[in-house]
Amino acid sequence: MLTNKNATMPKRLDLAPGDTVVVIAGKDRGKRGRVLRTLPREHKIVVEGVNILKRHTKAGQSRGGTRAIQGGIVDFESPLAYSNVMLVCPSCDKPTRVRHTVLESGKKATVCLHCGEPYERVRQAENQ
Ligand SMILES: [Zn+2]
Repeated sequence: MLTNKNATMPKRLDLAPGDTVVVIAGKDRGKRGRVLRTLPREHKIVVEGVNILKRHTKAGQSRGGTRAIQGGIVDFESPLAYSNVMLVCPSCDKPTRVRHTVLESGKKATVCLHCGEPYERVRQAENQ
């Protein structure tokens, strides 16, 4: 009996927390930031300093997981669509599309299409 393991693999984003990305669309276009969180199921990511929204809260109110200790206006980074950002290559410092490859060691890696530099990292957040 044949089983297709790929069919049950969750869709994985190429970005992981700690990566540097540049925003290519939307009101924050051109901004750079570090990925704080990824939301693979929603195809969204949270980027430091990008897509800041202000939330008006009353003291003690809890909304969206952010509990306001004091009332007032709280700045927070709102998730933005994964397709609105591009990874910035740490080697050549350009926003880049990546290609997937398998290194000689057998490790999977992504490769920058500009400079060809393999981009390895610890994928700690892929099972969120
Ligand atoms: Zn590069």
